[in-house]
Amino acid sequence: MSKTDLHQTLLDICADMAGCNDKGAVANYIPELAKVSPDRFGISVCLADGQQFSAGDATARFSVQSVSKVFTLAIALGRYGDGLWRRVGREPSTHEFNSVQELELRKGIPPNPFVNAGALVTTDMILAGSTPAETLGEMLRFVRQAASDDDILIDPAVAASETITGHKNWALAHFLASFKNLEHPCERTLGVYFHHCAIEMTCEQLAHFGRFLAGFSHSPSLVSRDNVRSINALMMTCGHYNGSGEFAYRVGIPAKSGVGGGILAILPGKASIAVWSPGLNKQGNSLLGTRALEALSKSLEWSVFDSG
Ligand code: GLN
Repeated sequence: MSKTDLHQTLLDICADMAGCNDKGAVANYIPELAKVSPDRFGISVCLADGQQFSAGDATARFSVQSVSKVFTLAIALGRYGDGLWRRVGREPSTHEFNSVQELELRKGIPPNPFVNAGALVTTDMILAGSTPAETLGEMLRFVRQAASDDDILIDPAVAASETITGHKNWALAHFLASFKNLEHPCERTLGVYFHHCAIEMTCEQLAHFGRFLAGFSHSPSLVSRDNVRSINALMMTCGHYNGSGEFAYRVGIPAKSGVGGGILAILPGKASIAVWSPGLNKQGNSLLGTRALEALSKSLEWSVFDSG
């Protein structure tokens, strides 16, 4: 397939998505996110040769939410290596992404770094020795470096909104603390967590960010090749919470979603893809984003499980 065909495929997918009646439900437990229209849809693809193709609202900023769990994992793995796995597991979960019950059953060790409790632990780990402002500064530097773009910021209104309404995250943090799996006061770790979830990016920036995970660009200094492999493996097995099996079956590409409706999908050696549509499915993953990635993966035989 030629490059113009790829662009046409993205335009076709965009038109198909605009025609879908069911666009899913926008997250409303964070009031700021509920203000975004479910009709928005954007997609962007970076290829190994440096070309980038986009369609739809690919330059609109959206709240990355749990896609930021990739950022915290990358930094925590770089700093602690296998020491990370003493405090968080690396198995998929059949529970919701913010399950308190699961954390209690697992005696305070979250199943993986991509559910909320797991990301609270990685956030707590990267906070060690720094102030919250320094930690957020380090995260932003890391994301901007990987995306080759300094125009990436945190939306304080989204962070403030979740600080007030994110009761399950407060509960998760207190549970972690009760099992001695948080080293900082709950409000300190949660403050950093809510702020990195509120990082805003466009599909074009996010696809650019993912190039090091696809193996196209030099990794930001902290991320070794081994860690890239680990991150991609976790995206495949855990990146869509209790919808990860279904996502692997339908799309077959390592990917991480967020309740802002964004998905970062990494096809090692071939493509870094970002898609955004704010309407979510039952598991809290972008409904049209998943559908679009399924269409793209099928039409280009881009699943990692394709034999061609
Ligand atoms: N900030 C959101 C939360 O903690 C992120 C969840 C998500 O994107 N799945 O609930």
